[in-house]
Amino acid sequence: MEKHTIKFRPHHFLCTLCFQGKGYSPSFVENYQAISARLKAPTGDQEVIHITAQSDSICAPCPHNQGKQCTTEEKIATLDHNHAEALDVKVGEKISWGAAKQKIAENISLEKFHTICAPCQWKPLGICEQVLTEFKNPPYPPFPKGGISRLN
Ligand code: SF4
Ligand code: SF4
Repeated sequence: MEKHTIKFRPHHFLCTLCFQGKGYSPSFVENYQAISARLKAPTGDQEVIHITAQSDSICAPCPHNQGKQCTTEEKIATLDHNHAEALDVKVGEKISWGAAKQKIAENISLEKFHTICAPCQWKPLGICEQVLTEFKNPPYPPFPKGGISRLN
């Protein structure tokens, strides 16, 4: 079966990294879980995401989706602007999920998160802050590229 192209508005890169199964409706969550599972699969980092300024793959079943725009488009456009600038990405570009995660790791400090996500209604829940904190400070860092050298 042919896979659908994944399209993200700029703020949805960080939202997707932080997604923990909450959302606007059961169908919204179900769709988001499928996208999240695709990106977490072994080949997920190679998935190419098209960056759009309009309703995207996550918005598709959202009750706030009005065709190409969100019912809270003004707020969403601010979030998109903030995140595009922080990640250094532009509408119309394509980027792999792996490269997007790299940009989040390098460009979005916790301090910056509090600024760029300020207008978001989900931010006070603290979920995104917690996931981003763990993403930037993993409890079990990956082994160094050259492997672990013997101590004896
Ligand atoms: S606080 Fe809102 S905009 Fe920011 S990552 Fe979380 S859900 Fe997305
Ligand atoms: S609230 Fe708006 S921007 Fe967010 S997923 Fe729904 S339609 Fe998209």
